[in-house]
Amino acid sequence: MNDTDASILCDQVADVLLGAKESWTRRMFELASQLRADGGGPVYDLSLGNPSLEPPSIWRETVRDLLAAPEPGQHRYMTNAGLPEVRAFIADRESARYDLEFSRDDVTMTVGAAGGLNVVFRATLNPGDEVLVPVPYFPEYEHYVGHVAAKLVPVETRADFTLDVDAISAALTPHSRLLLLNSPNNPTGAIYGDASLAALAQVLSNRASTATRPLIVVEDAPYRDLTYDGSAVPSMLRHYRDTVFLTSHSKDLGLAGERIGYALVSPRCRGRELLARALSFCNRVLGFVNAPALMQRALPAVLSSERGRVDVSTYAKNTTRMAEGLRALGFAFPPPRAGFFLFPRLPSSLAALDDQGGDIALTERLRKHRTIVVPGTAFGVPSHLRLSLCVPPEAVDGALAAFRLACAGQ
Ligand code: PLP
Repeated sequence: MNDTDASILCDQVADVLLGAKESWTRRMFELASQLRADGGGPVYDLSLGNPSLEPPSIWRETVRDLLAAPEPGQHRYMTNAGLPEVRAFIADRESARYDLEFSRDDVTMTVGAAGGLNVVFRATLNPGDEVLVPVPYFPEYEHYVGHVAAKLVPVETRADFTLDVDAISAALTPHSRLLLLNSPNNPTGAIYGDASLAALAQVLSNRASTATRPLIVVEDAPYRDLTYDGSAVPSMLRHYRDTVFLTSHSKDLGLAGERIGYALVSPRCRGRELLARALSFCNRVLGFVNAPALMQRALPAVLSSERGRVDVSTYAKNTTRMAEGLRALGFAFPPPRAGFFLFPRLPSSLAALDDQGGDIALTERLRKHRTIVVPGTAFGVPSHLRLSLCVPPEAVDGALAAFRLACAGQ
């Protein structure tokens, strides 16, 4: 595309597509596809968080049953928040998990977590509002916040990428409207501990008593059911009243292409009913209309089953093996505990590969060995790489061999 063609676009999208801002992750994913198409051997693509595990068999069985014996009208439009019986099921399940009393009206079924984020942002953000987010963060946030002309405000984290409550406190301004938390985190895998969430809630509650508009915490948690030891991930729902929680089944059921997730408004949230109505309205007017009907209908049977989950041990084995191999090469990172990402810091010899922190130069070296990763620069943290390890185990071996060569200067 050239600049003349760009006149067909709005400035904001043209800026993204023609400028340096286009998603590194997508660019690297497409590079991997290109390498594959060109032939010449396997490609180890660690770029996109596209789950390699197939959905559990119970999901296939349930969808097959739904299609074999359809209820009349099961594929029609519905209320924009989603099917009442599915929302009631989710409300009960989440009430038990968080010890809160969600009603079905607190639940809006969404087109994945991404759809949920856009719906919540549309419903709550005015132009110029500030959205605080601990770094590093999922780069798509920038675009979602940009859709409503709000401003993303990155906030420092600790060396192990856990929350720095003092830094968040210092970043609050009269324009702060929303705090976006993603735990377990993409790209770092960090899990925010309960004590730091409690301390954070205290800071936010103190501020809330003086602010005219509430500061809303949005928890984006599509990886919460992928902890390696099965432990529960702490949530702000327990600590802070004005919380909206989002999740999806893209990762824990391997259904990223089917687009199913939901938003939960805390029963303690100010304007609870109005906010839930607004999420349903925004689902409609953003053009999602409602989350896919068949996926909604399948959820109660799938999630009630012991088989209703992908086997996270595959991801745990991949990250652990990669972590061991990278540590031996001098990379540093906290031990992986959930999800399928690693965010290793380059050893100083490699960080000096270029003036920008070495990650782009190392990414390029790895590409020559048919291994595709995303440079930390894409996440605003140079001298790191983001590796997505939801891949077949042999890709881990291939990528490690490439790392050994690249680290040796080849
Ligand atoms: N939030 C985070 C942190 C993610 O990593 C992703 C996907 O990679 C999403 C949201 C979007 O997920 P979904 O497929 O549920 O829309």
